[in-house]
Amino acid sequence: MADVLSVINPATEALIQEVPVDDEAAVAQKFKQAKRAQPEWAALSLAERIKPILRFRELLIERVDVLATLLTSETGKPITQARNEILAVPGRIDFFVENAADVLAPERVYCEPAQALPGMGTLEEVIGYDPLGVIANISAWNYPYFVGGNVFIPALLMGNAVLYKPSEVAALTGGAIADLLHDAGIPKDVFMPVIGSGLTGAALLEQPIDGVFFTGSYATGQKIAVAAAPKLIRTQLELGGKDPAYVCPDANVAVAAAGLADGAFYNNGQSCCAVERIYVHADVYDEFLEAFMKTVKSFKLGDSTDPDTYLGPVSRKPQLDVLADQVADAVAKGAALRWGGERLDRPGWYFAPTVLTEVNHTMTVMQEESFGPVIGIQRVASDEEAVGLMQDTPYGLTAAVYGTDRERAIAILRQLKTGSAYWNCCDRVSPRLPWSGRGHSGLGATLSRAGISTFLQPRAWHLRAG
Ligand code: NDP
Repeated sequence: MADVLSVINPATEALIQEVPVDDEAAVAQKFKQAKRAQPEWAALSLAERIKPILRFRELLIERVDVLATLLTSETGKPITQARNEILAVPGRIDFFVENAADVLAPERVYCEPAQALPGMGTLEEVIGYDPLGVIANISAWNYPYFVGGNVFIPALLMGNAVLYKPSEVAALTGGAIADLLHDAGIPKDVFMPVIGSGLTGAALLEQPIDGVFFTGSYATGQKIAVAAAPKLIRTQLELGGKDPAYVCPDANVAVAAAGLADGAFYNNGQSCCAVERIYVHADVYDEFLEAFMKTVKSFKLGDSTDPDTYLGPVSRKPQLDVLADQVADAVAKGAALRWGGERLDRPGWYFAPTVLTEVNHTMTVMQEESFGPVIGIQRVASDEEAVGLMQDTPYGLTAAVYGTDRERAIAILRQLKTGSAYWNCCDRVSPRLPWSGRGHSGLGATLSRAGISTFLQPRAWHLRAG
């Protein structure tokens, strides 16, 4: 394991900072501290745990400029999108705080009156809820505030201690999140960042943790599941997607084109729920393609620190090769390259926004996660053909249908095994709704009340008055 992480700015390829890495001994020490601190944190009243979380909410807003600048520098995320991400967290905190008491409240499910016999006083059956204990929160870099916060905020509210492993691509932001939580009053040992690469993540999984909540790729998710299995601990995996969208013949084409272009290219396509494949009914195909291309060509690409920039560099250099390979494979198999298709000749890891048509499912671009600014658009003859293609990947995160007929859209979406279904919208997450994947997109849910109670375990209380 290296001693330091070199954090690189993807827009300039310049070294930002070297960050010390937590080796196995440091990870074990952090686990011990968290284990010691957790019972005291869990013994506080909910109101006492809510207080620092609400202060964290205030600090996010107060320090948004500094935090957004840091996030942009290490991930290349355009500054306006970095601000949007940070400023959306308070809404999620509000949901968690408003629902925490209800989720935690013990439920008296049965009460039997006392009988006139010795030892047969009133019998109550009560379901109580205990925190899991010390959990590992292993996070992706693409939305560190969202994917981290969806775990550590409700986990802390429910009385757990959190060992938070940010991606090496967002290590500085991970440190900043920890500072913010500590400044807000979360005890240092109750939330601890664990800094390093995947090796540090693997070392964390060797500790006797009580749960693992992971966001990342299917390939790493499988490794997490294997490492967690012998421990018999709660394991949640929020993994990748190859999210499809279908434009029906009765769709408002302008709305569909604008919505899907944004869904495909926001955050440079580096969203788990980015639109990755578009199927368009032949009746509206030409009109759709023209409107879609117009929107894509209007996106401003360039300096991530400019508030008007919509597309910056990709965050990880190896992804440039993945994207170039997908484009080459598609073109070799007969796709038409309508726009972009290559790395830009400028400093930084910039890949041109890319639109491919005449694509089919023999091409990797229609089968494997692109996680970048590349989209394939396929013409279809019917709803049935669209459904067949939409379900033709092992992933199942989200799917979208654009059209004016709600029943038709819902009938299509019902046939797909996805955690989220969108009608006339896409690439959308709500704190009130569960965020979950089917198939290779993962296990378990964050957000919604289910995403709070997942940090608890039920206990059956059989209480007979003496
Ligand atoms: P990775 O799977 O590469 O990494 C995810 C996290 O796991 C990182 O912190 C990584 O560390 C760590 N890690 C890597 N190897 C191991 C290991 N052997 N043991 C423990 N931890 C390890 O994913 P990315 O960071 O590249 O994220 C992109 C992926 O995440 C995409 O597939 C995307 O779709 C998915 N994602 C899913 C979301 C969802 O809600 N379903 C939301 C956001 C992203 P390091 O980075 O330091 O190597």
